[in-house]
Amino acid sequence: MLLQSYHLEVFAPPCEPGAERWSVKAALDDDIGDALPYLNATLKGAIYSHTARVLTWRMGGHAIAIRPREIAISNLLDKDTAATEVKRVVDIINRTWERRAEITPSTEMRQRLKPMDVYKLLPATNCKACGQPTCFTFALKITAGEAEPEQCAPLFTDAYREKREKLLTLLEGALN
Ligand code: SF4
Repeated sequence: MLLQSYHLEVFAPPCEPGAERWSVKAALDDDIGDALPYLNATLKGAIYSHTARVLTWRMGGHAIAIRPREIAISNLLDKDTAATEVKRVVDIINRTWERRAEITPSTEMRQRLKPMDVYKLLPATNCKACGQPTCFTFALKITAGEAEPEQCAPLFTDAYREKREKLLTLLEGALN
C-alpha cells in the first residue's frame, strides 16, 4: 500500500465566512508523487501539472487537489464527511498504485472538458431518456465525470453516428 497514514485538518475557508462549506487538508506521511502520473492517466476529468506536481479533480461536487504530500478537498457541505471523503481519495490512490503495471503513466496536461463542447455533440432533443431534464444538464454531468455518453441511448443510434464518434474522440482526448 502506497499511502498508509495521514493527518486531517478541517476548516471553513476564511474567504467564505458563514458559507457553511468546509474544506479538509490531509498531510500525508508518505510521498505519493510517483502515483500522480498514473492518476493523471486514469482519473476522468483530472487536470495535472507535472511541473507544479499537482493534480486537480472533481468528484461528487467536491474540488480535490492532490500533491505529493497533501490531499485537499473543498466544497464539503458537512464537516463530518471530511474523513470519509479523504478516505475515498486515499483508496483511489492506493488502488491506482496497485494497478500501475497495467497503466501507462502520463505527465501531459489535458484540456479541460467544456460543457458546451459536449452539448454540441449530443442530439439536443431534450428527450430525458438519460434521466436528465435537458441535454445541457447531461453535458454538465459528463463534464463533471458523473455520467457516461452510453447513458444517452439516442446518441447510439445510426442517426447520431457522426456526433457520437466525435464525442467519444473528444472524451478520449480529454482523458489521455
Ligand atoms: S438522452 Fe440524450 S438526447 Fe435525450 S435528453 Fe439525455 S442527452 Fe439529450
